[in-house]
Amino acid sequence: MSDSQRSAPLLEVRGLKKHFPVRKGLLSRVVGQVKAVDGLDFTLERGQTLSLVGESGCGKTTAGRTMLRLLEPTAGQVLYRADPTSEAVDLFNLPKKEMRALRPDLQIIFQDPYASLNPRITVGNAIAEPLLVHKIATGSEVEDRVAALLKRVGLRPDVANRFPHEFSGGQRQRVGIARALALSPKLIVCDEAVSALDVSIQAQVINLLKDLQDELGISYLFIAHDLSVVKYISDALAVMYLGRIVESGSADQIFNDPQHPYTRALLSAIPHADPKKRRQRIPLTGEIPSPIHPPSGCHFHTRCSLAEDRCRRDWPENVALGDGHQAACHLVQGASVTGA
Ligand code: SF4
Repeated sequence: MSDSQRSAPLLEVRGLKKHFPVRKGLLSRVVGQVKAVDGLDFTLERGQTLSLVGESGCGKTTAGRTMLRLLEPTAGQVLYRADPTSEAVDLFNLPKKEMRALRPDLQIIFQDPYASLNPRITVGNAIAEPLLVHKIATGSEVEDRVAALLKRVGLRPDVANRFPHEFSGGQRQRVGIARALALSPKLIVCDEAVSALDVSIQAQVINLLKDLQDELGISYLFIAHDLSVVKYISDALAVMYLGRIVESGSADQIFNDPQHPYTRALLSAIPHADPKKRRQRIPLTGEIPSPIHPPSGCHFHTRCSLAEDRCRRDWPENVALGDGHQAACHLVQGASVTGA
């Protein structure tokens, strides 16, 4: 892909919020809000992978689903450009009919491929379904396309007549990828897509996703709780904590020069084969707090060993660290955090 093609981003997410009402009593009165996603800003470049990472419950899955309008947003904009020269459209403002027309461009792969495949439908029919629904192919052309898609994801075309339970976890995820590819998408949200797989199978599926990206120019929003998984596929990362992004930047910046104490703690948990490159473990104590009553000031202060009085009082604004690297921490001063 040329530099000029990369110039206009595929997706710009601005101020994305998704709050869920908390209801109580006989009359189901709204007594609070779960602020699952509370003001995300990020940009996804064409043909690249942005990984959204953080512990379970940080809001990353909700963010991915809301962005695709599988959940209705509370606020924000998702500006999408189908190609670099076209005008951006705000997915949240599109009438349902126009959103449906864009659906083929925007696909999702789920964590549990077994749950996302109907056990009574052969994998061939599961892959054919989007082709038929969107009237992309008919008759024998459908079979040919299904065979080509199965082959492309490393499965034999003759497995089309088998049912999901006849496949291993890794093979089922390949079927999920083939189904997502059927509509020639521009973006695939990979929602914990390899988390349930064995480490060796994870590597195979990630390699497949990378090959497909190189060949087809697809962009990925890769949602994962494990930073070691995203290391080999990410161009950029956004680290989430309790509904907000606390640090973002290129993969190189986040892995080699992390600034936020939470990012450092997550990275320190990654095992390393070379003892010289092993980071000192920074323990993350306690559970992630409830998003119904998030801690005051910096949401991370209840678990941060560096917390000061101002951390309990004031939310830290994003600090620009150069070349797109940002972190939201009172101790980050445009260069590096002190003492972590
Ligand atoms: Fe820790 Fe304070 Fe920085 Fe939050 S703002 S991460 S509590 S040092």
